Amino acid sequence: MSVCTIRENSYEDFESTLTRLNVDGRSRNMYLRHERAHFEKAKELGYTPQYVAKLIVDNPSIIILAAVDFIGREPTPSDMVKICLAPRRPSKEDLELAVKNGWKRSKR
Ligand SMILES: [Zn+2]
Repeated sequence: MSVCTIRENSYEDFESTLTRLNVDGRSRNMYLRHERAHFEKAKELGYTPQYVAKLIVDNPSIIILAAVDFIGREPTPSDMVKICLAPRRPSKEDLELAVKNGWKRSKR
């Protein structure tokens, strides 16, 4: 059992690497869908995103962290907010990062 970090430049590569590393299908699909929303929004805004995941390689492998990173230009704060909030259900970390970049969470 070991920990490894993968970086992929496309959805197809990210998907095939997670499959090859034997990540459980349900969790794989959940991460793929979520990170893809960040990735596509970043691309749409003109950035060069990359899929990043840290895994415990096992049978099945377990994803301990998944994120989108940027090659070259970093997003401006207002673009970062859009990228953070792109998934249908942003994670706690996404919301925290959006707030850090100036997003005002509306009161319920
Ligand atoms: Zn997220």
